[in-house]
Amino acid sequence: MQSSTTLESKDTNRIDEDFPLFSQLQSYEHEQIVVCSEPSIGLKAIIAIHDTTLGPALGGTRMWNYNNEQEAIRDVLRLSRGMTYKAAISGLNLGGGKAVIIGDARTDKNEQLFRAFGRYVDSLGGRYITAEDVGIDVKDMEWVSMETKYVTGTPKATGGSGDPSPVTAYGVYVGMKAAAKKAYGSDSLEGKRIAIQGAGHVSSHLAKFLADENADLYICDIYEDKVNEVAEMTGAEVVDPDNIYGLDVDIFSPCALGGVVNDETIPQFKCDIIAGAANNVLDEEEKHGNVLLDKNIIYAPDYVINAGGLINVASELEGYNEERAHNKASRIYDTILDILNYSEDNDMPTYAASNILAEKRIKKVGSIQKIYSSKSQFSGHIGDMYKAKR
Ligand code: NAD
Repeated sequence: MQSSTTLESKDTNRIDEDFPLFSQLQSYEHEQIVVCSEPSIGLKAIIAIHDTTLGPALGGTRMWNYNNEQEAIRDVLRLSRGMTYKAAISGLNLGGGKAVIIGDARTDKNEQLFRAFGRYVDSLGGRYITAEDVGIDVKDMEWVSMETKYVTGTPKATGGSGDPSPVTAYGVYVGMKAAAKKAYGSDSLEGKRIAIQGAGHVSSHLAKFLADENADLYICDIYEDKVNEVAEMTGAEVVDPDNIYGLDVDIFSPCALGGVVNDETIPQFKCDIIAGAANNVLDEEEKHGNVLLDKNIIYAPDYVINAGGLINVASELEGYNEERAHNKASRIYDTILDILNYSEDNDMPTYAASNILAEKRIKKVGSIQKIYSSKSQFSGHIGDMYKAKR
């Protein structure tokens, strides 16, 4: 008689041949993927729940005109997995999730679409909590929240946490100080030469923190009015966007785009530290993470140092309090230092050290769940606190 394991794997292999979706789910170790369809209104959405060991899966909804369904699936799987790591390393009791709506954010939006999507979110009973992401604005989320309470990152005017950028900037600031502590033995940024790429929401607040500490700032943006405004407010020197990588500075702070640490830019860097708000800073994580390690450039992993935004929306689930969100974001200092020390002790790139520490936390917290607690019957997760609040 065959063991059930053998039968199971045989069956899974058969399914894999027909639906590569299952092998993709398994390769990233996702728990669930929900395909949401309502042809009468053109809704095509996918919700991916990666891991809920630590709590309900939280992550924004992205609306994007994907070239094909495969591209949308790949994106939602990759992004939701990233949220698991971000929440775990940030010490949050949240899992990783993400949703994508396939469509053109300029032409395909309407009330029905978002309310239908909201119903799908609601059907998951709090396993997934959504928020804004690329292509989604406040009005869209208002429609979603007509159908579900599992929405966060709502405007301050309606009791929510509002724009996360100030808290994100604060997290980047303290994370940069932690990297300075590792590099120079002191976390003071006074007199440090810092190049900031981008003069947007996060970097304008970041530049203010740095200017208050008397750092020597250089800043660029593709829009002259934006960069001039931040320069005027902080005394930063405006530089050409093409020259930002090769400046003779101590710290490079990418706060605009992803992929800016790549084969072309690395040879230009003269900095000791790379620490900024942008997502997916390393063009190729493994390759460029290793090159930075070899060149002795300290890289503060993006999803750790920019977690202030997630910390901010997570605070909303417990009843938003700005001071508490700032306090939680200040822990990014210790988290970055732990990662940098682990990276040094194990001679590995910082992104890899961060992934390992995030996985360790998930495993450790997961292992205590076998102990019965009165909280267990309510699950004790943030989603339930949220329910209680409303
Ligand atoms: P933003 O759009 O307000 O600012 C980005 C700025 O970069 C803009 O002013 C843009 O003109 C500029 N820019 C674009 N291309 C550039 C280039 N080639 N050279 C120089 N400047 C360029 O965005 P933001 O909210 O400040 O976010 C900045 C980055 O941080 C993004 O990568 C975002 O994904 C990430 N992030 C933001 C938050 C948040 O709370 N806003 C949270 C986590 C991560």
